[in-house]
Amino acid sequence: MHADQQIVLHHCSVVDGVHDKPRAGEAVLIQGDRISAIGPEGELLAAAAPEAKRLDLGGAFVMPGLLNMHTHFSLSLPGPGGGAVSALSPHALALYMADGARRTLNSGVTTVRCVAEKDHAEFAIRAAIDAGTAVGPRIFSAGRALVCTGGHGYEGTDTLECDGADDFRRGARAQISAGADLIKVMISGGIAGEHEAIDTPQLTVDEMAAVIETAHAWGRRVTAHAGPAPIIEQAVRLGLDCVEHGYQLTEPVAALMAERGTSLVPTLIVTRCGDFFDTLGVPQWMQRRSLDAGPRHVESYQLALAAGVEMLLGSDMPPYQETGGTTATVRELEHMAAFGLTPPAALRAATIGPARWLGADADIGTVEPGKYADLIAMDGDPTQDVSALRSLRWVMKGGDVVRDDSIGLHA
Ligand SMILES: [Zn+2]
Repeated sequence: MHADQQIVLHHCSVVDGVHDKPRAGEAVLIQGDRISAIGPEGELLAAAAPEAKRLDLGGAFVMPGLLNMHTHFSLSLPGPGGGAVSALSPHALALYMADGARRTLNSGVTTVRCVAEKDHAEFAIRAAIDAGTAVGPRIFSAGRALVCTGGHGYEGTDTLECDGADDFRRGARAQISAGADLIKVMISGGIAGEHEAIDTPQLTVDEMAAVIETAHAWGRRVTAHAGPAPIIEQAVRLGLDCVEHGYQLTEPVAALMAERGTSLVPTLIVTRCGDFFDTLGVPQWMQRRSLDAGPRHVESYQLALAAGVEMLLGSDMPPYQETGGTTATVRELEHMAAFGLTPPAALRAATIGPARWLGADADIGTVEPGKYADLIAMDGDPTQDVSALRSLRWVMKGGDVVRDDSIGLHA
């Protein structure tokens, strides 16, 4: 995107992510890779330079690009689908992940938070995207997730086994030196581990404290894969910044999270995605564990909502993955809304909320002057019903149109 290029997006309603209602008859002026003004269509069209590109969005609703806070481009669940990913050579893996990054951006997700990727390959992809030699979203990554020996996800190069406080400190420092923006740690069992249960404790208190202290000292936030309330309570008291899944929260622990400002990425979709598991040939023991955890998972989410915990969208499965007739990201947003968030609140959980957690809210998360022109457009009004995102048909990242269904453009 040329710094002096001007684009005016018009014939649209702007869902800016600040106000709960769309602003009809407004246009968005983009200068280079950032938004420079939002205002009445007639005024902005008149004020733009004669050589500015004028893009008619055909009455679409325009909103900030989505942020998905729990992604894995190199996901390999148990079963033949995941086995094929695990068997890729390092070069083939990077190409596979780069393809996933491109599809992610096309699905309207303009920023991701990777929370365990194989072999640090995502840092090479991030560099290629920044250099313009690959196409994909803005990437924030935890590098490899830290686990105890045999802990959740220990089988692959997307985790690093550590034992003892010193080893967990070394693990955290190793991720930061590889380029990690945050640290991810597995503090309990989960759905995909054959030899563990969802509520298996996996780290000692001094190990958790070592990870959190080290990360914070280096200015990185920490998120934890966690299911059971007692373990989450320990970690939150130690300063944990975010909980992934939170399958079994209780009222007091939810209240503690709200009080301490610990966010929740509920990933509701992981206990209700049989079609996705079938596609990958996920074994029956894991499918049963996922399905069985579903009702308690929703109860946990609703306790957290009632307590005032900040919710952030994360799909766990690839953001673009087709499931339930749409993408995993949109399906997760639908679950978050169906189980309690209003549509505007659900949209914030997928835009400005994550941007704030990442410390990137000066650059992304709303449609406001000064921010990157990371925008998506659709035919329906997402502030009325988040399922409007199923009609997404246009994506822009940093002022570049990367998808436009009306002319058949898919980056
Ligand atoms: Zn995950």
